[in-house]
Amino acid sequence: MKKVVIATKNEGKLREMKQALGHLPVEIVSLADFGALPDAVEDADTFLENARIKARFFMEQTGCACIADDSGLEVAALGGAPGVHSARFAGFHADDGTNNEKLLAELRNAGVTESDADYRCALVFMDTDGQELHADGRCDGVIRMTAKGSNGFGYDPYFYVAKDRTMAELSLEEKDRISHRGAALRRMVQLLGEYLK
Ligand code: IMP
Repeated sequence: MKKVVIATKNEGKLREMKQALGHLPVEIVSLADFGALPDAVEDADTFLENARIKARFFMEQTGCACIADDSGLEVAALGGAPGVHSARFAGFHADDGTNNEKLLAELRNAGVTESDADYRCALVFMDTDGQELHADGRCDGVIRMTAKGSNGFGYDPYFYVAKDRTMAELSLEEKDRISHRGAALRRMVQLLGEYLK
C-alpha cells in the first residue's frame, strides 16, 4: 500500500486530514513518524504555491508521497490580510492568542467591529515521481470582536459561520462539512481515488 505522509505539524489540521483521508487505500503517516525534520520555507504569495513548496520539500525529505496544505484567513476590511501570513500574523513567535489579539487590533484600527471574511485552503498531493494533484476550498463567514467556543484552532473563536455561532462551537464533523479544508479534502479524495486506480 502506498505510504502518504501528511505534511503538517499542526495537531488540529492533522486530525481533520486523517479523518477525511482515512477511507483511501493508502497508509497515512505523519511527519512525527520521521523524527526531527527541518521546516520548509513557505515564502510564496499564494496558498497553492506554498502548499506545493511544502509537498515537494517533505516528499524529498521522507521519500514518501506527500499531501501538504496551506490555508489562512482573509478579512475583507483588512484588504485580505492576514492571508498567506495567517500563521505568523503577530510575528515570528506568534500563537493563536497573539494572532487573534492582532486581528482585533487591526479591525479597531480600521474602524470596524466586524468584517466579512473567508478561510481558504489549497491542498497539493506530490507523488515520489513528482506527479501532482491539487484542490482548493473556501468557507465564508464574518469576523466579530467576541470569542465563542473552544473547539477548532486558530481564528475559529472569532469566525462566525452563522449569526450566533462560531467555527469554534462546531464539532469536528460539523466543521468538516462546511470548512475550507473539508471542501478541499473532499475534492482531493475524489482526485486521489481516480489517481490510485
Ligand atoms: P499554515 O497553513 O499552516 O501555513 O497556517 C494557516 C494558519 O491559518 C493557521 O495557523 C491559522 O492561524 C489559520 N487557519 C487556517 N485554517 C484554519 C481553520 O480552520 N481555523 C482557524 N484558523 C485557521
